[in-house]
Amino acid sequence: MAGNALEALLQALASGAVKVVDLTQPLQAATPVIQLPPIFAPSKPFSMQEISRYDERGPGWYWNNIACGEHTGTHFDAPIHWVTGKDYPNNATHNIPVERFIGPAFVIDVAKEVAANPDFLLNEEGVQSWEKRHARITPKSWVLVRTDWSKRANPQDYLNIKQDGAHTPGFHKSAVEFLAKQRDVLGVGVETVGTDAGQASNFDPMFPCHTLMHGSNKFGLASLTNLDQLPPTGAMVIAPPLKIVNGSGSPLRVLALVPAG
Ligand code: MN
Repeated sequence: MAGNALEALLQALASGAVKVVDLTQPLQAATPVIQLPPIFAPSKPFSMQEISRYDERGPGWYWNNIACGEHTGTHFDAPIHWVTGKDYPNNATHNIPVERFIGPAFVIDVAKEVAANPDFLLNEEGVQSWEKRHARITPKSWVLVRTDWSKRANPQDYLNIKQDGAHTPGFHKSAVEFLAKQRDVLGVGVETVGTDAGQASNFDPMFPCHTLMHGSNKFGLASLTNLDQLPPTGAMVIAPPLKIVNGSGSPLRVLALVPAG
């Protein structure tokens, strides 16, 4: 029964049999923001201004005004974010059915490949090879790509911008098509600043993960961390964005429930 299932989960959380892993980066002024080619409009970094802190401006309370682009730090990409997803119903942060924010996690580890090549792209063959070694990816799941890119603590190393643009890993269009069409995932999550590779403005189609994932009414999660604490299968991810009306995305807290041991 559903009631018993929830009770069992709560007991597992209380006993530590299931642990909670935070997949979220700290959100602060230093949080790196995606740098698009200069012909495109930029997004504001995170900022915070104090309103009062137990002082004459508010003797008993502390609070701040905050500002940032929707796609800042660990954040959610809604289908409406991309022109290919603009006509789906319920495609923005306030009206996506909330059931779609929770699902099993399939974690594809390409950290070795990325260590050898920062421009590494996960392709369909790579996903299928992972499935042969682990499990078939089930519908309505999150596919998270572990690159260990979040271990680059210095923002310059994290963005990795050279004369010809950013060099960060991502997806070949074949993997995105496979996951969206053949596996019907909720979306994909990555450790880099966006779900597409650093060089993806030069790909065909341009930004293939955004184009094809949102074009299939699916989601993105960017700037995740601690993916090295997740098993390849068996974890559950909870990733609800802020309920911004007509929002294209939002910073969010992403949690994973993971069986201990
Ligand atoms: Mn985004």
